Amino acid sequence: MRWTQTFLYTQKENPSDADIVSQSLFVRAGFIKKLSSGIYYYSPLMLRAIRKLEAIIREEHEKIGAIEIMMPILHPRPLWEETGRWEEMGPGLLKLKNRNDHWFCLGATHEEACVDYVRNDLRSWRDLPKIIYQIQTKFRDEIRPRFGLLRGREFIMKDAYSFHATAEDAQKTYWLMYKTYQKIFNRLGITYRVVQADSGNIGGAINHEFQLLASAGEDALLVSEGSDFAANIEICEALPIGPEIQEPQKQLEKIHTPGVRTIQQLSDFLKLPPSRLVKTLFIHSEGVASTENTAQTFAILIRGDHELNLVKVKNYLGLSNPPRLLEDHEVTKVCGANPGSCGPIGLEIPILVDRSVAQMTNLIVGANQDDWHVINVNMYRDFTPHHIGDFRMAQEGDPDPTHPQYKLRSYRGIEVGHVFYLGTKYSEKMHLYYTTPEGHQKPVEMGCYGIGVTRTLQAIIEQSHDQDGMIWPIAVSPFQVHLCVLDIKDQPIMEWVEKMERDCEQAGIEILVDDRDERPGVKFKDADLLGFPYRINLGKKNYEKGMVEIIHRKTKEKVELPPQNAINYLKEKILCSLRTSENEKP
Ligand code: ATP
Ligand code: MG
Repeated sequence: MRWTQTFLYTQKENPSDADIVSQSLFVRAGFIKKLSSGIYYYSPLMLRAIRKLEAIIREEHEKIGAIEIMMPILHPRPLWEETGRWEEMGPGLLKLKNRNDHWFCLGATHEEACVDYVRNDLRSWRDLPKIIYQIQTKFRDEIRPRFGLLRGREFIMKDAYSFHATAEDAQKTYWLMYKTYQKIFNRLGITYRVVQADSGNIGGAINHEFQLLASAGEDALLVSEGSDFAANIEICEALPIGPEIQEPQKQLEKIHTPGVRTIQQLSDFLKLPPSRLVKTLFIHSEGVASTENTAQTFAILIRGDHELNLVKVKNYLGLSNPPRLLEDHEVTKVCGANPGSCGPIGLEIPILVDRSVAQMTNLIVGANQDDWHVINVNMYRDFTPHHIGDFRMAQEGDPDPTHPQYKLRSYRGIEVGHVFYLGTKYSEKMHLYYTTPEGHQKPVEMGCYGIGVTRTLQAIIEQSHDQDGMIWPIAVSPFQVHLCVLDIKDQPIMEWVEKMERDCEQAGIEILVDDRDERPGVKFKDADLLGFPYRINLGKKNYEKGMVEIIHRKTKEKVELPPQNAINYLKEKILCSLRTSENEKP
């Protein structure tokens, strides 16, 4: 392909609204163009990268017998009401009305649609199992679309759904899909971790996220130094940490703490570390809680140096979305004091206590009276907990919950894939039942599996770039070779270029020829920005020597070879690299 024949415009300046490098590089290289917040055009080069990733995904899905279909994007409201997710998904689900006053939403995910697609046909155990997938545009009205394609309102996702007769079979496929995802991400040559995670609005009992490691990632991960335990901080179990010294219970005492509002101020005032203090936080659950927890407002006690984990609270309360923290004026209504002076004594709402707090004696908490605290507070003597559980964020240095002799280390990641074992959550609600060999009716067991196609491509560049631009792995690079023609007006050189293009085509090498009337410096800079694996320089000097110059984008290594040898060299390198990534063991 010739540069002048495609639609390719680069820019020197970083866009002012880019927050991270990959976003900036994608815009500068003309890969994406913003139409509106979280909504982007994909350029011809971007589309080539998308098609390559899609091809890898298709190849690996077909190897395990998955079947590709295409589902509608526009879904009628009653479909989503069958599972309760029309409400549960909240404002993230983009809803619209048609001329007949009927409500629709744009597909944010397709569990409902896929179950609907199969439900009249999958009737017998003989029809199972099936794995169905599609690659399609999804819509989510994200609160804060940002980081370019990493958090879009409109993005491409591969989503797969599997249907099984038994839980064992569904779980077997779950692990097969897990391996398939490893194969796909290994072929991209990225560094990633598979972590335990929260299942969010999708649900189900087992799930894992595939997290590409990058410091700009939105997700915090904790990974064991010694075992293979790895989890998203959202659900990472935090073992209770006991105090160094166990004191006997002392007499309750009220102390005057004028102007003290925060844990840090209290710590300075009492000359005690925050780990000796306890904060009292208040949450409100908007949704319907599980049957044991009918209350909506709860107090939660957390050690002064720990952070509250709202996803853990959500899961304990059986909510579909995390609860919210009360506003200051609401806190005052509940406990009679400002949030800096509240504590558990005398509260009329249920009190949840974090496991680390439960191990402490003689707690220091607010007195529920402005400017007063109480010391030597003891659980069961001075207040009664509703439940003791794991409500705090785990943090770096905490013990690995599976092998406490090891410590957890923290990383940041970009979630590129997520697999879920769903059980019968959707099939029961949507009446997807099959007949067993014995003639019984049973709900179909399910799994679902997603890869963010557009997010993955930008995430790759977030991990793979240098000060000059992007560094594409061969597997998804829009082109494999970038030929910079340095003297476009020179007839014999242009003949050489044409021959080279033909030879490349024959050898199966994808080449972009920069045939613009530009200075060499401009061409080299753009070649580095676009970041295809190999660059060839071809100008008068090379022509006279009968040699072309090949530069490896990543290592900047240079070799000089006669043109035909150059083609063989590139063919060998490219095929070899593609072959190794395909055969890579997980
Ligand atoms: P996140 O936690 O980042 O909001 P999610 O857990 O809601 O994502 P899933 O429902 O698991 O996302 O969707 C499957 C995959 O789709 C994700 O792993 C991610 O790669 C991709 N994805 C989800 N939301 C977006 C988005 N707003 N923009 C781009 N890709 C997305
Ligand atoms: Mg997810």
